Formats: sequence, structure tokens, C-alpha cells
Amino acid sequence: MKKRLFTPGPTPIPERVMLRMAEPIIHHRSPEFGEIMKRVGRNLKYVFQTEHPVLTLTCSGTGAMEATFVSLFSPGDTIIAVNGGKFGERWVKMPRSLGLNVAEIKVPWGKAVQREQILDAIQNNPKVKAVYLIHSETSTGTATDVKEIARVIREKSPALVCVDGITAIGAHELRFDEWGIDVCVAGSQKGLMIPPGLSFVALSRRAVAAMESSTLPKFYFDLRKALASFEKHDTPWTPAVSLIIGLDAALEMITAEGIENVWARHRRLSGALRSGIDAIGLKLFSESPSFAVTPVWVPQGVEWKALNKALKIDNGITIAGGQEDYAGKIFRISHLGYYDDLDMIAVVGALERALVAQKYPFEIGAGLSAAQNALLVGEPSTIDQV
Ligand SMILES: *Cc1c(COP(=O)(O)O)cnc(C)c1O
Repeated sequence: MKKRLFTPGPTPIPERVMLRMAEPIIHHRSPEFGEIMKRVGRNLKYVFQTEHPVLTLTCSGTGAMEATFVSLFSPGDTIIAVNGGKFGERWVKMPRSLGLNVAEIKVPWGKAVQREQILDAIQNNPKVKAVYLIHSETSTGTATDVKEIARVIREKSPALVCVDGITAIGAHELRFDEWGIDVCVAGSQKGLMIPPGLSFVALSRRAVAAMESSTLPKFYFDLRKALASFEKHDTPWTPAVSLIIGLDAALEMITAEGIENVWARHRRLSGALRSGIDAIGLKLFSESPSFAVTPVWVPQGVEWKALNKALKIDNGITIAGGQEDYAGKIFRISHLGYYDDLDMIAVVGALERALVAQKYPFEIGAGLSAAQNALLVGEPSTIDQV
């Protein structure tokens, strides 16, 4: 049986990328590697739609987020963080543990933060240094309107606009420069189609200036060091060489497709999946759907464990469960990165098979037909962004 991965990290890796990573390793202080770093740096700027530096760090996305906290701020600085899921909660806990004062905006799971909540928080914290947003909250499959929220922040406050774009980069439109974003983080095992182990940080001029006065303790995660190396197409420490070589191949694929086409593909595939799920009679979880991952309520009368087993053992399909309060209550299907139309047909087909095995009542083929129609007619889903 063919194994197929539909999780929001790690995501599937294209054959071309795997083959490049299998080549004999080269030294990281060599002209060949410098050329790769130069090309990767240029292509990352394109992916983030920025003229500013995009640093490559050897650590997972959480490490890159920590690097932004310790490199930009000083003890006692106030930041605002939006908590609407598991990752939002992390961006409240982590900066607190580092000695920052965090004003938390709590948002119910499945809902996106509203501009009024941001405005209130800014008004209540006039000395705020930064606002941390999550473009696509992976635990809830919920997208935030970063363009609009960034505009509101820039209009009302000098606070830096910092975006966890870890599952948004490569799935959602994001224009770092045009939208006035100051910091944006991405991860390798998400939309960038390579294994876990790398993360990326884009920094505006204002963010670079903030690093000059930051006094929180840091060494490995000092972004000033990474920035100085970046200018020389280098890294301060030994990087994950093979992953960067894989990234070079993955970025070639993204630039060949065109970033706008990559965003459009994610919008289309997620819309088709939502149509299929709706036609089966299942309920979607998020009020503001992410184009990276689709959360679905486990229907009445169906056990998540049994459904998951039927998907995995009988159909070779791995999806993700719900987290925290939603464990066993929702499941999440990812379509982030290396996916195409027929992958959506496969996952809807597998879901139908697993539901039949659970004796869940629905018309066999209803989901497949709806997904197929959405893909072939090419219209945006009727249950698109709300
Ligand atoms: C995966 C993810 C993270 C954490 O990244 P790691 O690479 O697991 O450290 C943070 N934020 C979001 C939105 C994510 O999807």
C-alpha cells in the first residue's frame, strides 16, 4: 500500500528534493556552498516578497521564534501576543519565560483575531514594542487577515508587526514589504517541502534597528550574528548543509511555479477539500479557514481512534488529530506544500472509505463528486473564506 502524508508538518518531500539531499555532502565554508546560500537567500526573499534579508537558521520554527524574542527585546519590554490556539499559547509562554511582559489577546479556537481586539490591546499598552500574530494557526486551521491587521497596527502604533508564518508561507498570500511586516518566521517542514530542521526569519529595517538596543541574553540565537553572516552568503555556525541543498531544489520548484500560483493552488485545493467534506455531511471547524490545513469535527457516532486507524492501516493515509481540548473531537487534513488535485481526490476518497467502515451514514461518492467538481469547474468553493 502506498503511504500518503497529510499532516501540517512534516509535509511530503518532492523526489527531486530527496535526490539532491542524497548527493555527497560538501563543506559549508566552500565557494560551492556560498553559491547555494546566495541563491537560497535570493529565492527566499522572493517567497517572502521582500527586499530585506531572510535568514536561514538551523533549528525548528520554535527556535526561530525564540531567536526573534531574544534578539529584538530587553527584559521587561511589553509585547502583545494573540492566543487562539496551541501555537498562540506558545508565543505567550515563551516570551514570558524569557522575561518579557506579555499582553495576551485570547481568541476562541477556530476564530480569527479582529481588528478591534488589536486596537484595544494597543490602547491599553501604549509602550508596546511588538505585536505577535499567527497567519495560519495550525492547531485550529484558522487564518488571520494579516494584511488588514498589520495595516491597523502600523496606523496606530510604532510597535513591530511580527508574524508566525510557519504554516502560512507558501500557502497564503503574504507580502512582507508591501504589508509593512517587520518580522516573519517560516519552517522547513511546512510549506517549503523539505524535512524538519531549518527555519527562516525575515527582518525589516525597523526590526534590524531594534536588535541594536536589545539586551536579553543570547548567543547561538543572536540574529545580529546571523545577519552579518547572511550578507556574506554564510552562516555563523555549521548549518544543516544537506537540508539547505534540499531547500535550494525546493525553492527552484517554487520559483518555477511562481509564488502567486503556489498561493492560488493552496486556495483551490483547500476549497475543493472543504466542498468534499461538506458534501459528506461533516462539519468544518474553523470560521476563517486556513489554506494550509483543514480541521473537521469528528461526527457523532464515530470514534476518532477507529477512524484514524481505518485511514492509516486500511488506506495508508496519515492525518493529524485535534490538540488539547479538541483531542478526539476534531481531525486535521493538511494540504500544505507538495500537493495537487489528485491528492485531494485521494484523501476525500480515503475519508469516505474510513467512514463507511465506521458505518457513518452518507451517500458514497458525494464527497468525491463535490471535490472533483470544485477542482474541474475551478470556481472558488461555496464555503470559502468567511
Ligand atoms: C509547526 C508550527 C510551529 C512550530 O514549529 P516547529 O518547527 O515545530 O518548532 C509554530 N507555529 C506554527 C503555526 C506551526 O505550524
